[in-house]
Amino acid sequence: MDAEIIAVGAELLTPYRQDTNSLYLTDKLNELGIEVRFKTIVGDDRGRLVAVLRSALSRSPLVIVTGGLGPTEDDVNRAAIAEALGRQLTEAPEIMDRIRHRFARLERPMPENNARQAFVPEGGEWLENQNGTAPGIWLEHDHVIFILLPGPPREMIPMFESQCIPRLAKLSSGERIRTRVLKIAGLPESEVDQRLAPLYKRYQNPATTILATAAGIEVHFRARGRNAEEAEALASDLADQAETALGEHVYSSRGESLEEVVGMYLVMKQKTLATAESCTGGMLGERLTRVPGSSSFYLGGVVCYNNELKTRLAGVSPATLEANGAVSKPVAQALAEGIRRRAGASVGVGITGIAGPSSGTEQKPVGLVFIALADERGTEIREFHFPGDRQRIRWLAAHSALEMLRRRLRGGPKI
Ligand code: AMP
Ligand code: MG
Repeated sequence: MDAEIIAVGAELLTPYRQDTNSLYLTDKLNELGIEVRFKTIVGDDRGRLVAVLRSALSRSPLVIVTGGLGPTEDDVNRAAIAEALGRQLTEAPEIMDRIRHRFARLERPMPENNARQAFVPEGGEWLENQNGTAPGIWLEHDHVIFILLPGPPREMIPMFESQCIPRLAKLSSGERIRTRVLKIAGLPESEVDQRLAPLYKRYQNPATTILATAAGIEVHFRARGRNAEEAEALASDLADQAETALGEHVYSSRGESLEEVVGMYLVMKQKTLATAESCTGGMLGERLTRVPGSSSFYLGGVVCYNNELKTRLAGVSPATLEANGAVSKPVAQALAEGIRRRAGASVGVGITGIAGPSSGTEQKPVGLVFIALADERGTEIREFHFPGDRQRIRWLAAHSALEMLRRRLRGGPKI
């Protein structure tokens, strides 16, 4: 079965809001073996919405519409679907009761326009909303299924999960899609492709996609099977072969983030970590503390932007700063060793660099970053030249520090 998604909302056509609902829906539909063929974003305009619904009716067996079910004047979905399909809107008394109840429970008067939400196109079924007032609608017309869902993700997701997925699972053939993702560090896209092409070219299913992301290369293996187990087995078989071909460059094969992998190694080896960050302003600490349970391996860190604080908080000697400048190998080393000693951590990380856009020089251009990693075996210091704007340079610095940590903790050959 193929599907089409329509996101409704004027705000989704501005730079301030993004349609994320369709990403969630696509993921869930794919799991059910349903491919998404079209996506449309349309403002809260009845005429335009009717036109979009009509073209969906002409080409897709499953149409999912999100948003535009609210109580306000600008939410025109109910009227538009009734018009597009030539059906009357009729009041569903149970919905009215439920909405009244909800307001009574919240001890608030019910605004008049909430009554609009109790109208359903003739022949349609309504779907209960456990997290808001707008009910969803399930409607079949000329062998096309229309599902109308509320816009807010915290209402849309539970409704789709509890009331739509089970029904769609019965309707879709047994076919299912499963995707395995390998995340790769330290290899360019062309090299990844060269190593993997002989493998993936042998298969039409799974389909292989190589994507370059800010965090490195990702390879997606998307398999279709007669059932979930078969799809999973097909995806895993190729993913496992690819993982072997790429060796230690693969840092994640089950969706884990780089910071999670680093955390896992630290816990496994019973080590602790402390950080002294200059140009990244705490981004490394921020990423480490995203990991649930990070308190068991991350002791904390300092953001020491100016030289005096590098001395006071991380113990960098004024002489080292004076002789080499703040952005230098010796200062990165002193930051890592200083914070390790002061925090009593097994591993210390120091980051210092020039994020720009100004204050670069010929010897020390924008993008120059030194990262040091100190542990009981000694201190490793690396010099990087990152491309991009200030934000990207800072992000790459934090990411590279995590990648250095991963390799150091993992042991094995240097790559
Ligand atoms: P509505 O059901 O149209 O009243 O939507 C209410 C709110 O849900 C909007 O203001 C958005 O914040 C959110 N929303 C609507 N559509 C989407 C979408 N496609 N993706 C993510 N959030 C959405
Ligand atoms: Mg809206």
